Amino acid sequence: MNTKAFETYESEVRSYCRNFPAVFTTAKGPFLYDEDGREYIDFFCGAGGLNYGHNNDYIKSRLLSYLESDGVMHALDMYTVPKREFIEFYEEKILKPRGLNYKIQFAGPTGTNAVEAALKLARKVKKRTNIFAMMGAFHGMTLGSIAMTTDASSRAGAGVPLTNVTHIPAPYMFPELDTLNYIETLLTDDHSGVDKPAAIVLETVQADGGINVFDVEWLKGIRAICDKHDILMVVDDVQVGCARTGTFFSFERAGIVPDIVTQSKSIGGYGMPFALVLIRPELDLWEPGEHNGTFRGYQLSMIAAKAGLEVMLNEHVEERVQKLSAVIAQAMEEIQALSPEKIKTRGMGFVWGVDFWRFDHDGVTSKKVLDECFKNGLIVERVGRGNTVVKVMPELLIEEETLKKGLDILKNSISNVIR
Ligand code: PMP
Repeated sequence: MNTKAFETYESEVRSYCRNFPAVFTTAKGPFLYDEDGREYIDFFCGAGGLNYGHNNDYIKSRLLSYLESDGVMHALDMYTVPKREFIEFYEEKILKPRGLNYKIQFAGPTGTNAVEAALKLARKVKKRTNIFAMMGAFHGMTLGSIAMTTDASSRAGAGVPLTNVTHIPAPYMFPELDTLNYIETLLTDDHSGVDKPAAIVLETVQADGGINVFDVEWLKGIRAICDKHDILMVVDDVQVGCARTGTFFSFERAGIVPDIVTQSKSIGGYGMPFALVLIRPELDLWEPGEHNGTFRGYQLSMIAAKAGLEVMLNEHVEERVQKLSAVIAQAMEEIQALSPEKIKTRGMGFVWGVDFWRFDHDGVTSKKVLDECFKNGLIVERVGRGNTVVKVMPELLIEEETLKKGLDILKNSISNVIR
């Protein structure tokens, strides 16, 4: 395994990869391969960017045929066939069947671009600067989104005061507190000292915050508060969207309709950089050129995105996730049983976490688990407070047998570490 060059080349600004001492070469479906020909099952999935696996044949064929036809690669604000086809497909096959009516904004290559656009638009529409975000949230690393992201190490690099965000206690952090009532008090008590926000921004399942699933009644409660107080509800579906929770949009399980939705990561279908903002039509008050960027709406990303959505529908990925999530839930129960007092597992669909907080608060145990998994051919990453939660996010087309094999590696690795 030759990773030496990465550590010694002066030209490399910083050796980025801390966790996986291998040089990766190829990948297919749920598998990654390194230079030595070792196979790994990938439960990291590009941080949620690869819901349809690595190098999906159908998506690849769409990309290759476009490249071979000398299709226009960079068209920015021009009309193009891929753009038209993507928009039509998205409207007809994704939005309409769900009874949703959104305008689609191409926001840029990455998740944080979508979040920034949503923040700007919410502030513009409501003419208010404050935003409510949840404790434990992760929304990105640029100045608007990082002000909502809560973990101290992410915020530390900002270099300027992060302002105009009020963080709301997340129910799992304050089980004794009625957080909906708390928000209501912030909004109505003239001694709260809190400015009314333009929007409440949240993930329905906090992923990088440690796999925290917000329950349906609570999500409905947030929707009701937004309606009552004329506040926009923004759902950040960058990581847990695209069927990961068992429905294409993660908020579908709560039967709510957000005013603005952000998407990125797996919406790019093939690991392509792509970000969207979905906007209730009457909120689209952007003036031409008010929010632009050179690489928003990139042609190859649109092609991969549409092909990815076709795969999602043709392979019945939502139903698949709903069904196979029972396999993960079962494995999680078994993992928790390895140390019922100290290990906590939680999640839904194909997004789960194994929490080692009760072992230590600085990620020592979770790192040992990650290393042991890697040694045994499984790639997982860590999230949550002190990086104490091992995140389990297989691709959504994974064969049941491979899923079980990966979960077995996880369970055995944890067992080896804690015994
Ligand atoms: N929102 C959520 C919910 C995310 O999980 C992430 C990335 N982890 C982002 C926004 C930011 O996306 P990106 O890293 O592509 O900027």
